[in-house]
Amino acid sequence: MNIILLGPPGAGKGTQARILVDGRGLVQLSTGDMLRDAKDSGTEMGNRVAAVMASGQLVTDEIVIGLIREKLEGGGTGFIFDGFPRTLPQADALGQLMDEMGQTLDCVIEMQVDDEALVARIIARSTCGGCGEVYNDETKPIPADGKCVKCGASDFKRRADDNAESLKTRLLAYYKQTSPLIGYYYAKGLLKSVNGLGEIDDISTNIAVALDS
Ligand code: AMP
Repeated sequence: MNIILLGPPGAGKGTQARILVDGRGLVQLSTGDMLRDAKDSGTEMGNRVAAVMASGQLVTDEIVIGLIREKLEGGGTGFIFDGFPRTLPQADALGQLMDEMGQTLDCVIEMQVDDEALVARIIARSTCGGCGEVYNDETKPIPADGKCVKCGASDFKRRADDNAESLKTRLLAYYKQTSPLIGYYYAKGLLKSVNGLGEIDDISTNIAVALDS
């Protein structure tokens, strides 16, 4: 099963993708993670995209489609696309790539969260440097012993673009460039919308119901 998690920044795509990886053995393909890795390891492409990412704008379609192409050409199936596609040309390219690989896209889960909750979530967010587990200062604080519940690592990071200024740009990019994909996938009969507010476990139950229906 290949699925897309679609939603604005802070909707919980990464958290739910990780739950699907653990529960269903799917493979998470997050273009945001791939770009951050390229930036952190100082590759030529990473250096080129650093400023664009920090500002909250989207990097070029060409770059992210290239990253996804590389992963799909590596073989396998059962992918969760997290943060990709984000534009109509990216969605068309993904469709073509899936055709070329003889794969099908089974479901697009739209995670609906209102803007106020997104801002609150993002400003309070940190992730484990060891395994990527996501924490929130209010709803899921880092344990008192300073160790990740999942892997025991004790280094936690806040994303450089998780600040009020770049968040505004990221939200605008979502509404202008990514939200048309909701109609695009609805028209293809692939869209399932779930409420992305509430407890993490309840949201994953909603997603499971949507995927299995
Ligand atoms: P994310 O981790 O998905 O929030 O992505 C972080 C940043 O990486 C975004 O704000 C963009 O600058 C860039 N990015 C990630 N995925 C894409 C994509 N599919 N298209 C364009 N830019 C992307």
